[in-house]
Amino acid sequence: MSLPPLEINLKSLSKAQLLEQIVKWGEPKYRAAQIWSWLYQKGITEIDQMTNLSQSFRQMLKTQTWISKAQLKDQIQSEVDRSTKFLFRVAGGEDVETVLMPDGNRLTVCLSSQIGCAMDCAFCATGQMGFFRNLPVDGVVDQFLAIQTKLQENTDEYIRQTKFNNKRKITNVVFMGMGEPLANYQQVVSAIRILTDPDGINLSGRRITVSTVGLAPRIQQLAEEGLGCKLALSLNATTDEIRTRLMPINHRYPIREIMSAVRFWVETTGMPVTFEYVMIRGLNDSLVDAERLCRLVQNIPCKINLIPFNEIEGSDLHRPEERRVERFHRILTQHHRVAPVRYSKGRDIAAACGQLRTIYDQAGTRLSINPVPS
Ligand code: SAH
Repeated sequence: MSLPPLEINLKSLSKAQLLEQIVKWGEPKYRAAQIWSWLYQKGITEIDQMTNLSQSFRQMLKTQTWISKAQLKDQIQSEVDRSTKFLFRVAGGEDVETVLMPDGNRLTVCLSSQIGCAMDCAFCATGQMGFFRNLPVDGVVDQFLAIQTKLQENTDEYIRQTKFNNKRKITNVVFMGMGEPLANYQQVVSAIRILTDPDGINLSGRRITVSTVGLAPRIQQLAEEGLGCKLALSLNATTDEIRTRLMPINHRYPIREIMSAVRFWVETTGMPVTFEYVMIRGLNDSLVDAERLCRLVQNIPCKINLIPFNEIEGSDLHRPEERRVERFHRILTQHHRVAPVRYSKGRDIAAACGQLRTIYDQAGTRLSINPVPS
């Protein structure tokens, strides 16, 4: 059996931890900002590329540290909307799916935070695979960096054919890939600190959205971190009975508790919240539901995102007819800020909301990029 490397992955360190190391190495503190800028702004993956560090310091770094990177194993692009799904092997030898979605001037990357998911929501393919592991912070951030590097190199046929924004820079991040981000709280918060740090990726917190099933205590904790990021709450039902059927976590944190955590979020951060609502035929798509939803979110500064259910294998749930979705949408718009119905991107490549999952064979080997449901 091979032993894990004793060296430190530079990307696994928070800025404070890196500073501590730098002091131990007897180097000036500003080296931390220099190293971060190489890692996160220039996206380098070899210590020798950090050319403003002395030869001797680089030599020392090479004996004690290393730099992880996400290895691209496969990718597939939607014929319909040009979203691209990537399969990466990240730190720890894990395979994850990450999705890049062009939308007007925006270029959004949808990051995975866990391998599998323990929440077991009835409508989600990731839930069906069960929970394997939390991703470490480097496994999360490397998904972003690998795509950013690809965009900047502009050597990728798929990406070149796509009229992404001219700057070829990721503009937005959503934690809506595989996993429940708030169940991997510390690593996700560390990743957001790297994404928003001026010496790191330097993205505004306003461009980062954490989407959650509603782990109420974690929502409150996140509100107090002062990260400046946005919160999306996957509400998906207007009664505890239906919500518990769809999302077992509702047993633990019923709608009333989630709503009070959301109110705390709004009061503490001063920022509105987004409610996501996956519409499922005959379960949560009635006029009564629309009205109940209006009442539930009354007085909460918010936006509502309606997501017609995306089909997944082995599920007998269905997407409502378009007419029904539009009617539901109309009722909401009379009272609330409602985004245009989110007909998810990447449905033809199984990259849409709820469709990400990993297929393993019996020996635990990843078989291929997740095939499209028939
Ligand atoms: N665990 C987090 C993030 C992942 S899911 C969360 O639950 O918020 C991101 C969004 O996709 C959630 O709003 C979820 O409700 C939605 N979603 C999951 N499966 C879906 C499906 N089959 N069709 C449409 N949306 C789905």
